[in-house]
Amino acid sequence: MVVRTAEFELGSVHARQWPQDGLPEFAFVGRSNVGKSSLINALLGRRSLARVSATPGKTREINFYRVNGSFRFVDLPGYGYAAVSQAERARFQRMITEYLRQRGPLLRVLHLIDIRHDPTQDDVDVHRWLRGARAVCVVATKADKVSRSKRMVQVRRIQTVLRTDAPVLPSSATTREGLDDVWALLAADLNQ
Ligand code: GDP
Repeated sequence: MVVRTAEFELGSVHARQWPQDGLPEFAFVGRSNVGKSSLINALLGRRSLARVSATPGKTREINFYRVNGSFRFVDLPGYGYAAVSQAERARFQRMITEYLRQRGPLLRVLHLIDIRHDPTQDDVDVHRWLRGARAVCVVATKADKVSRSKRMVQVRRIQTVLRTDAPVLPSSATTREGLDDVWALLAADLNQ
């Protein structure tokens, strides 16, 4: 995919703020600190369109990015960050669930899992819910942090623990490995 233009469009806290022009969307979901902002920036070839932060749990809105004027990346708030209050977490959850349930133009959800660790119970619960609702792929992030042989072992672990038959794609925002595979999947979705 050649990314000619990529721009931040809006951050929303209510469904009424979502864009209404029907452009297809890909949503990014994952635990705080999994590397979601880094992956979005790497896919778009932009250094800091999505915020990369050493402080987890900071993105509190659903952020929409328009790509090539023809589709969107949608960055959903990270889950599983303990330092966020119960009330705040419940609010995120409502917002994310509302988006994932209702959003018509959503083509696929990219569920991000850190390749170094087995998925947590949170990841398993979120994945099961997503698989029931949407087309999903798993992106195993930070692949540069493990050896090549370990990558395949971890991909199988992720498949087993999540009990999923969704594709699991190892990727690295740092070395850019695997990004072409992610784009190939998204391009196929767009061409269907
Ligand atoms: P988010 O909270 O999910 O948006 O995660 P960020 O994109 O802010 O990344 C969290 C931390 O992981 C930051 O310190 C990043 O530099 C680091 N990180 C993200 N992606 C990668 C990657 O592919 N490789 C490595 N080595 N570090 C990464």
